[in-house]
Amino acid sequence: MSADCLFCKIAAKQISAKLVHEDADLFAFEDINPQAPTHILICPKKHVASLAEATPEDQEVLGKLSLVAAKLARERNLGGGYRTVINTGSGAGQTVFHLHMHLLGGRTFAWPPG
Ligand code: AMP
Ligand code: ZN
Repeated sequence: MSADCLFCKIAAKQISAKLVHEDADLFAFEDINPQAPTHILICPKKHVASLAEATPEDQEVLGKLSLVAAKLARERNLGGGYRTVINTGSGAGQTVFHLHMHLLGGRTFAWPPG
């Protein structure tokens, strides 16, 4: 846990969030400012600041992020399409420096993204 990290505090239940998944390695919760009808953030419990800081030790948990996203998408009947996004670095829009995958669904999405 990193002392000043918002998502570590959510993992430790020091800050409340609407949890939708939790296991030994990951937790997932509703985004506080949703950009689509479904907008979930999926995070490793281990504090990794961003994808740029991930190491080979994180390989398994990085795979699990995608599989949990697919599971949550199935649960929410997002079979028509959904988007998973990892913003890495402030230039890509990352604002919380604890690695997380966005799962967005329930509307259509433009490509290329903004
Ligand atoms: P990013 O910009 O990729 O770092 O994504 C950070 C996301 O965290 C944004 O979509 C925010 O709306 C979301 N967020 C910030 N604070 C909270 C919170 N307390 N609970 C849930 N989501 C949050
Ligand atoms: Zn953290």
